[in-house]
Amino acid sequence: MTDIDPQLSEEHIAEIRRGLLGWFDANRRDLPWRRTRDPYRILVSEVMLQQTQVDRVIPYYERFLDTLPSVEALADAPTSVVITLWAGLGYNRRAVNLQRTAQAVMSEHGGVFPADPVMLRQLPGIGPYTSGAIACFAFEAPVAFLDTNMKRVIHRLVTGPDLPKPTLTDRQLMAFAEQLVPPDDAWRWNQALIEFGALQCTARRPACVICPLQAACAAFPAIQSVIATLPPGTRKKQEAPFQGSNRYYRGRVVDSLRAAAGAELALSQLGPQVRDDYAPEHKDWLLNLVSGLQRDGLARIAEPKATYSTAENDEPLVSLP
Ligand code: SF4
Repeated sequence: MTDIDPQLSEEHIAEIRRGLLGWFDANRRDLPWRRTRDPYRILVSEVMLQQTQVDRVIPYYERFLDTLPSVEALADAPTSVVITLWAGLGYNRRAVNLQRTAQAVMSEHGGVFPADPVMLRQLPGIGPYTSGAIACFAFEAPVAFLDTNMKRVIHRLVTGPDLPKPTLTDRQLMAFAEQLVPPDDAWRWNQALIEFGALQCTARRPACVICPLQAACAAFPAIQSVIATLPPGTRKKQEAPFQGSNRYYRGRVVDSLRAAAGAELALSQLGPQVRDDYAPEHKDWLLNLVSGLQRDGLARIAEPKATYSTAENDEPLVSLP
């Protein structure tokens, strides 16, 4: 890794802050989670945004909060309702983890989110990024936290191109991020960093030509020629799960259980909905798959209910939890 001075000059910090905040004020999108300081709403938005684009998240965010408007409502809801509200967002484990976080806020903090990122991090499902985001966006704490986009922007501004691979460690990037957060304007700063990474300084097509931070940016203009030489294989991978992968079939199972609207399905009913070529010899494979989903809180397996045994009614029954 690069041997660099971890201390930015006061002039460089001021120049970056001025440029980035000015850009944000002129370009910010009006997003629903930017109109609130409610930590529950911030949490929901952050979890939804983890692997899903902003435009797709907005209708899910609003519908989710219409149905479950408080941390208490989420904690008390049947898990099947939470999973059903998540339909279409993908990565269903996020829904289960989100509910576990809400339940811990209720049981350990009386329904009141702690403002301290260290305490937030002790909640299940909350990592360093999300704890920082809640502390900053709900309580306006002057903290630094970094996702992939924020890391990229800081890397480019302070040390140069992050491609074909970064030359700074996460620890070094965090040290720079902490210097850059304005203590009295952290909410706007961190929102600006996120927005800038999403719209202006993107991974493969940074809009350097119209960037107000050119003079402050260590990657300008070299980043453009670096990107032009990258082989196509380094471009962003498709987000959709590969058809036939374990993740793909897990998604199909959860989709089928949602469509069943609470009904229990025998494996022989579920199987053909999960794969077109389902045959009796796939039964162990399917049982293994739903057992994994049960461990993750996304399915429930019940014993057969029949009082006499036949090949059809001797199967475990699967439903949403
Ligand atoms: S000049 Fe280019 S690389 Fe530098 S901050 Fe602006 S968009 Fe990003």
